[in-house]
Parts: sequence; C-alpha cells; structure tokens
Amino acid sequence: MDIYERISEFYETANTEKQTIGKSLLGRELYAVKTGEGSPVGIAVYAVHGREFITARLALEHFETPITGTLWLVPLVNPDGALVSERGLESVPNGAEREWLKTFSENQLRLWKANARGVDLNVNFDADWGTGVKNVREAGGENYIGQSPFSEPETRALKNFTEKIRPQYTLSYHTKGEEIYWYYYQSLRTCPRDKRLAETISRSTGYPLKRTKGSVGGYKDWCIKTLKIPAFTIETGNDGLSHPIGDEGLEDIIEKNRNTPRALSAAVARELGI
Ligand SMILES: [Zn+2]
Repeated sequence: MDIYERISEFYETANTEKQTIGKSLLGRELYAVKTGEGSPVGIAVYAVHGREFITARLALEHFETPITGTLWLVPLVNPDGALVSERGLESVPNGAEREWLKTFSENQLRLWKANARGVDLNVNFDADWGTGVKNVREAGGENYIGQSPFSEPETRALKNFTEKIRPQYTLSYHTKGEEIYWYYYQSLRTCPRDKRLAETISRSTGYPLKRTKGSVGGYKDWCIKTLKIPAFTIETGNDGLSHPIGDEGLEDIIEKNRNTPRALSAAVARELGI
C-alpha cells in the first residue's frame, strides 16, 4: 500500500468531521480530518515535501491521541510529490508532467521534495516570497518558488482551508534533523509567547529550538506573518537517517512526537486564557 492509498483509507474510515480541501496538480484528493472538540483550534500539516512522506504516518498517531481542543490534520499536503519519491515515475500518469519528470534520474526522483511540476510548496506561500537565500527560479526537485505566491493547487487549498478554519496555532511536520523552528520576525508582543510555546514542543519532543536566516515563503512563515498566530515547523527524524526516511525511522518519530499536539494545545489554551 503506498502512502496515498494509506491516507485515503484513513480518510474513508475516520469517524469524525472531515473534508477534502482541494486536489493536487495530478488530481489526487487533499484530505483534512478533525480530532478533538472545542478551543483552542489548531491545524497540523504533514508531507508538504514529497520525500518526507513518513510524516503522514505520524498524522495517524495524532488522530488517535486524545487532545484538549480541536486539531485539524492535513496528513498529505503533497501526494504527487510523495508518490514521486516513494514509487517513482510509475506513479505519474501519462502527460506533460511525466514527460518532464523523465528528464530526472531515479535518484533525483527518490529525493523529490516539490510537487509534480517542480514547485517546492514550502517556498510558495506569500511570506516574503522569492527572497529566500536558497530560492531558485527553475522548476526541479527543490527550492523552486513557482510563478507567483500560491501558484500551486496544493498551497491554494491549504491557504483557503486555513483561512476558513482560522486556527489559533499551526504545526508543520517535516524531516529531518530533530529540530524546531518557531521564529519569523514576530512582534515584540508575540515573540516571547511563541518562544514559550516552542519550548513546550521542545520539552515534549526532546528536540532543540533553532533559527534560520533567509528561509521564507513557508506555511509556518505565512501563518506567523499574515495570520499572526504561533506556528511551528518540526523537523522529525534523526539526521543519521537518509531521505526518504522509511519504516525504519517511524517508531522513533512517533515516540518523540506523539504528545506534541496535546502538550501544545494545552499550552496555547493557557496563553490565551481559554
Ligand atoms: Zn521539508
């Protein structure tokens, strides 16, 4: 069973509120499933980068873990890219994308982060778009920003869904390196709050807090800059593992990350006085 089949089956059988939030470039469903009830409300997204599809499996654990408040899970933001990494060209139907993807080696496809037309979704959000130090202007496996912010169906779907739900925090799951990113030029008022929340995640995972310079255009960045909510990127998986992390890394990732939404949701409730 590939990752899209697995997540589709999860979606079909989930007995809570759920919805499809759009379709990928190649027409695959983008799913959202709710767990918990009431405030605060969060959104957790997984597998924004193709080769990081192991994180979609973490979403299934988060669905099973009781939480105070509501968490919307978007387990597989980039199904096309995930399948390019997991299964290669055979996952891509005949058409322009497949012809273009044929120009890359098998190894390049296994390490694919972007969507099916080579846009890196995590630099396609409207947060200082196109000014990142690693940004590139040519389609490929990673770092291509796209023709404009939200040029891709996957990022537009996540934008629209997030604006509809109006969460009080978001979590973005990536691999790898075991670190937490929380900073994006917050105001003096919200910066200490967001750092405290990041420290809550650090305690629950054992991962340290990190800051990067020159990384822009991600979902977390957009949430902080535009929605003015705390938002976190968690790089799961030991750095000693290679991309794409397979089943060998899953148990450790689940062990360290299972309780984060629960701990964070409780901390957000305290910060907001809910
Ligand atoms: Zn990533």
